[in-house]
Amino acid sequence: MPTPNPIPAVFLDRDDTLIDTDGTTADLRVPGDLLIPARVKLLPGVGPALRSLAALGYPLVVISNQGGVSRAMGTLHDVEATNDALRAHLLPHGVTLAACYYCPFASSGHTPPFNSDHPWRKPEPGMYLAAARELHLDLSQSWAVGDKARDLQAAAAAGLALKRCILLTRGPAPQPLPWGLTCPSVVDAARHIAAASPLS
Ligand SMILES: [Mg+2]
Repeated sequence: MPTPNPIPAVFLDRDDTLIDTDGTTADLRVPGDLLIPARVKLLPGVGPALRSLAALGYPLVVISNQGGVSRAMGTLHDVEATNDALRAHLLPHGVTLAACYYCPFASSGHTPPFNSDHPWRKPEPGMYLAAARELHLDLSQSWAVGDKARDLQAAAAAGLALKRCILLTRGPAPQPLPWGLTCPSVVDAARHIAAASPLS
């Protein structure tokens, strides 16, 4: 069977990009890694925004560091269950994710075998490269959206164009800005992608 032509995707960070961890992890040791499915809550407008991106023909791929596993905050099962909860929250919006990639490794952790560096941990590009290989994606025409610089550093290292790397920032953009552009939310990022998309 011939390999399909690669197509562009929209890569999305998970925590504080698609789902809210503000105020939900105050009792956890390190905020930002949500490993509790019952606490999954989409950020405002995420469902319709992702539906609009899917309607343009973009596969939606979640790319998420989950170093909390390396810090014994949860298990691989907890990560999978939390990702399943995200999928369940998106279903009523007619959104199906193409895949969820995550990296449980972090050298700052203390739980073997996850307390080590790993080529998948952002800002390393490993998850983007694996997704491109497995899902036949065109990285050079893909988009990335995330709330941390490392989300976009990893995307750029994988070969995404800086102008298609969108940093979510609620306040003033950090300077200098070495990657594409900033938006206040996924909703605004989706509008920008739609306006700039040759698929629309
Ligand atoms: Mg994040």
